Amino acid sequence: MRFRSARRIGVNKPTARTEVFSVASYVGGESQLAGFEKPVKLSSNEGAFGPPPSALQAITHASASMHRYPDGSSRKLREAIGKKFGLNPEWIVCGNGSDEILTLLIQSYGGPGTELIMSEHGFSIYEISGKLAGCTVLKAPEKNLTTDVDAILALVSPATRMVFIANPNNPTGTVLAQDEVERLRAELPESVLLVLDAAYAEYVERTDYDPGVKLAGSTENTVMTRTFSKIFGMGGARLGWGYAAPAIVDVLNRVRPPFPVNHFAAVAGIAALEEPGWLEMSRTHNSAERRRLSERLTQSGLRVIPSEANFILVDFTTTERASAADAHLRNHGIIVRQVKSYGMPHCLRITIGTTAECNIVAEHLAVFCNG
Ligand SMILES: *Cc1c(COP(=O)(O)O)cnc(C)c1O
Repeated sequence: MRFRSARRIGVNKPTARTEVFSVASYVGGESQLAGFEKPVKLSSNEGAFGPPPSALQAITHASASMHRYPDGSSRKLREAIGKKFGLNPEWIVCGNGSDEILTLLIQSYGGPGTELIMSEHGFSIYEISGKLAGCTVLKAPEKNLTTDVDAILALVSPATRMVFIANPNNPTGTVLAQDEVERLRAELPESVLLVLDAAYAEYVERTDYDPGVKLAGSTENTVMTRTFSKIFGMGGARLGWGYAAPAIVDVLNRVRPPFPVNHFAAVAGIAALEEPGWLEMSRTHNSAERRRLSERLTQSGLRVIPSEANFILVDFTTTERASAADAHLRNHGIIVRQVKSYGMPHCLRITIGTTAECNIVAEHLAVFCNG
């Protein structure tokens, strides 16, 4: 039989599109450490307090209706988000994590022959999804580990379709001030979609910061994305959203899966938004512990990049020293994030955890530096 011999000589195998092989799979923060039943996990910026209690309750209540399909448009969730943040629910699209919104935007507005611009140490999903969609991904150099608007503008060509900025950025933790974001929008061609990824928006205390509400709400070419994975402590539920003008929302609604948000994530999200004092409590804790941990690491002789998010990037000067520090922490049951894939093998990213977790990591790094 023809196909049998073909199989034997190894031809006619299914072949994926060439773009698929241009990317490495996304590698998340590790969670297991041999020899430690409960390691201190400071590798994925998951929020210091776990999920809000009301979110857990909501999931318990919803479990009996598991046989029902969820609402594909997440209407109640969009209304709750709109109420919490003062936004029109019609301008909101919910997704299976904000990663899904980012990917759907790239699939819709990118594609072969188009260019996508991100900054040098920008969030890796833009590059992975961009290349998969066939886009050419261009990286603009940064200044002081911060997005440089002029460097981005210098890369713009007639093929440019999208610009992605994580603000605050992961893994650097740095923020682009609102006047610079506005200057970028004003100087980019109107046909270029600007995506402001504000996964850490709720942690920022700087007064010259806007997560993207202003621009996404007043232009037809800017999107803001947000997530429940960080300050709301719901990364495992996969819940994120985008906010943009109706024409962009219409595009996202056409390309999204029929049921992007499962019922449990939706009810948990609504409950989390209504949990009294959650954002304030989390932000206050984060700012205080971030300052304290930064000071202690600085006292140990390390360079800490000033961060507005719930993590800090720590510069160990050399790759060898960063790797040795990582190994030292692992030997004591602490997992932080290597950022080699972001082009910074001499740094480690450390999530702001509970006060006890911050103390442990500070103590072990002090021993590493002085011992
Ligand atoms: C964590 C993170 C996301 C992903 O969020 P999900 O909603 O969990 O998909 C997006 N952007 C940045 C910059 C992040 O750090």
